[in-house]
Amino acid sequence: MQQRSYNHIVGVFILLLISVLIFFNAFASPKPICDYCKREIADANYVTVEDKCFHTEHFLCAECSKSLVNQKFFKEQNKYYCENCFNKEFVPKCQKCGEPIQGRYFEFDGKIYHKQCYEKFIAPRCCLCQKAIDGEYIIDFWGNKYHKYHQGKDPICTYCGRYISESTSQGGFQYDDSRYICGICKKGAINKAHEAEKSMIFISQKLKNFGIEINLDKTKLQLVDRNRLAQLSPDRNKDYAGLTKFEGNAIPGKVISRNFNIYILSGMPRDNFRATMAHELMHVWLYSKAPMEMDPALTEGCCNYASYLLLQNDRSKQVAYVLDRLENDPNIFYGEGYRRVKKMVRRMGIESWLEYLQNNKNFPSGY
Ligand SMILES: [Zn+2]
Ligand SMILES: [Zn+2]
Ligand SMILES: [Zn+2]
Ligand SMILES: [Zn+2]
Ligand SMILES: [Zn+2]
Ligand SMILES: [Zn+2]
Repeated sequence: MQQRSYNHIVGVFILLLISVLIFFNAFASPKPICDYCKREIADANYVTVEDKCFHTEHFLCAECSKSLVNQKFFKEQNKYYCENCFNKEFVPKCQKCGEPIQGRYFEFDGKIYHKQCYEKFIAPRCCLCQKAIDGEYIIDFWGNKYHKYHQGKDPICTYCGRYISESTSQGGFQYDDSRYICGICKKGAINKAHEAEKSMIFISQKLKNFGIEINLDKTKLQLVDRNRLAQLSPDRNKDYAGLTKFEGNAIPGKVISRNFNIYILSGMPRDNFRATMAHELMHVWLYSKAPMEMDPALTEGCCNYASYLLLQNDRSKQVAYVLDRLENDPNIFYGEGYRRVKKMVRRMGIESWLEYLQNNKNFPSGY
């Protein structure tokens, strides 16, 4: 949307305001030629405009043939027009009411409008305050539009990025651990251990179809809040959604027994939970099959790739949001690593990728 003025354009049209001079020129010789009929002007009274002369009855609007003598007239492409015709032919019209626009106008989507018409009928409405948007605004993933000045003032849902409000997200809540979740996301949130357990079994079967086999016998799942997860995590500054801890009695180079503890945030929407679950199960697979001390970009990239494998064919908008976050994550391990792994799998196929991981700690060269 742009706000502009036509004044400069009108200026180019050479606005000639009652500048007609009727000459009383009885003695001039040779006789002037009428620009309209191309005949000599014998009468002492005639009209001169710029460098042209006209019989007084021949100075006419090029469109409606009304006399322009003693009238306000306009010039466009070397022709003269009365005000009405000029407005009709050359002044831009508001695309809403059809009337000519003098002065300031609003441009939106390649069309122009009077300021009032734009604000009343065309302007997008802000989802938060319902007022017309005529300045900078934000469109979220869901197509909701907001004034830019709301940014940072209203809470945003951790799981879908919507501003929390009645109109955009059916309200919202704040968990005790200070996470915000909107009304839409909260509906399908996973809070119960048996639900989470069921989902883990289902997802491990899905991953098995891709050749990622996980032994769930030694895998324990716990739903935890954000504070507990932060206590368990290696990096307190990072906001984890899940974590996998490996317990094993190992002597250098050889692991004797393994147990896995998966911790996942409670209260996440179903699709976010599934993405996290696939990620953590991939950690279990890597702990079981791959060399220790793998490049973290390869590790986290592979785990995020498992989320992608699980969700890639799901067409829901929430899944699209989750995958969009994955694709655009700037983190060098989780985002960059994921994109590198994706490239790798695209070239070598899933089977060779899994085989590669069992024998290598680092990305192959060229990735
Ligand atoms: Zn004439
Ligand atoms: Zn006219
Ligand atoms: Zn209008
Ligand atoms: Zn607003
Ligand atoms: Zn949400
Ligand atoms: Zn991870």
